[in-house]
Amino acid sequence: MMMTVLKQAHLRISPLDRTVITAVVLLSSVFPVELFPNTPSAPKGLDGQYSGKQGQVLVVKVKGEEQATEVKGTFLSRTIPFFREFRPGEPASYIGLLGIDMQDDPGTYELAVEVKQGEQAKLLSFNVLVAKEKFAVEHLKLPKEKVDLDEKSVARWNAEQQLVQRALEENSRLKLWHSNFVEPVNGKRTGIFGSVRIMNGKPRNPHNGEDIGAPMGADVVASNDGVVRLTVDHIFSGRGVYVDHGLGFYTMYFHLSEVLVKDGDLVTAGQIIGKVGATGRATGPHLHWGVKLNGARVNPYALLDLPFKNGVTPPATATIPTPETAPAPQAVPVKE
Ligand SMILES: [Zn+2]
Repeated sequence: MMMTVLKQAHLRISPLDRTVITAVVLLSSVFPVELFPNTPSAPKGLDGQYSGKQGQVLVVKVKGEEQATEVKGTFLSRTIPFFREFRPGEPASYIGLLGIDMQDDPGTYELAVEVKQGEQAKLLSFNVLVAKEKFAVEHLKLPKEKVDLDEKSVARWNAEQQLVQRALEENSRLKLWHSNFVEPVNGKRTGIFGSVRIMNGKPRNPHNGEDIGAPMGADVVASNDGVVRLTVDHIFSGRGVYVDHGLGFYTMYFHLSEVLVKDGDLVTAGQIIGKVGATGRATGPHLHWGVKLNGARVNPYALLDLPFKNGVTPPATATIPTPETAPAPQAVPVKE
């Protein structure tokens, strides 16, 4: 039964051969809903509900909640904070960005949305269909010592993981981004987000970001406004920057040759935060661009299609520079 259902669902959305499908989950039974301008029409899932593939971002909109004091969703045990949308002449509404983790199992899950109004709260419940994404399989050959870690390196890696986890726990409760997201570097995107990795013949963790091949020393910019939550020099990620955009939304920039910001710095979209390098587990210069959205590892390119460009959110306070005239990217190397 589930197989049939999934197959049907897959057939229905497969013509939308886009990197990202930004879907609006219609809460139409309760609120009138208006689709965002310039957003592709939402793919229909089961029973008129909406769906997305692994690694995508869904835009969920709750309309007409003038009096709400807090709107919060829960999806697969992850908390989805909603933020208020202001549009002149329209009733207030709330938007939540629902990240589908690259390893969420295909299936239909509940998105529970709690709308609080003072002491009172009402619960809305919706089905979200998670569809399977076809991820590539990558065979990588790396020096043995970079793959099979000795005891000391394993201990270092574990400590680093914990440090990152702790730093990302205290995310900003304010929404810090105001404009659309921008690509952090001019370069050649490899399209290997989520790829299954076989390193020196052994399966490893899937690739949790996107790699962009670019020349050594090319500028890396913050993809949106935020605060630098953590700068690192770690065994796998090399020199890296974690930017907190607020409400559980992080972007990460790894393998840098130089980091030009420090913990706690406020950054704006398009601000240079580092230089492309090959530090950590990398065999050539490139940027690893990763995203965590309320705990979900999503495709960073999903951000570029989010509909924040045309006045959906308050007017941008950040200026987005025109892309630098960067030299032509080099061939994309084998990477981490
Ligand atoms: Zn990578």
